[in-house]
Amino acid sequence: MSRRARGYVGGKAASVEVRRRDLATLFGASLVGAGLGATRSAGAKGVLMASLPEDETFMRLALAEAARGDFPFGAVIVRDGAVLATGHNSGIATNDPTAHGEMVAIRTFLSGRPAGELQGTTLYTTGEPCPMCMSAIVWCGIGRVVFAASIEELSTRIGQIMVPSRAIADAAPFATLSITGGVLAAEALALFKT
Ligand SMILES: [Zn+2]
Repeated sequence: MSRRARGYVGGKAASVEVRRRDLATLFGASLVGAGLGATRSAGAKGVLMASLPEDETFMRLALAEAARGDFPFGAVIVRDGAVLATGHNSGIATNDPTAHGEMVAIRTFLSGRPAGELQGTTLYTTGEPCPMCMSAIVWCGIGRVVFAASIEELSTRIGQIMVPSRAIADAAPFATLSITGGVLAAEALALFKT
């Protein structure tokens, strides 16, 4: 059984075949039903997308960042195969609870480049973005998010605000971005020492 999901690459619509089973792997069974339902609704703005061949390469860079974090979360921002910024959680070192890997990567990017250049970039993150980070991603016009472990999976290791990234994207009618989950999730979860 397969369903059609629509992904957007470089502003051009591209169709990818995704199996419901694969989506269950990527997003967790509970989210798949809601995700496919949202795919069919006119208001959906977060578009589920299958992983690309290069995703694991950049996720491994994010994992390396995560290994350096106060909490094991890391992110990299990429455009056209080039890494433009990196970040890892520095909530303790900087006395800043908002210093999540994604926020640090975005701030690092903005420290050296115009905000407009964030538009259409891809952000790789070892953990599904929390509502704060996902909102920042939407405000910045980032075009695609690729995450490793889902919020649901992360919640078995560390406290999470249980709002999926897609829900934030879907609530922003002015933005469309692609979301890919489950890339090297086991590696991301393994960074949490028990
Ligand atoms: Zn966050």
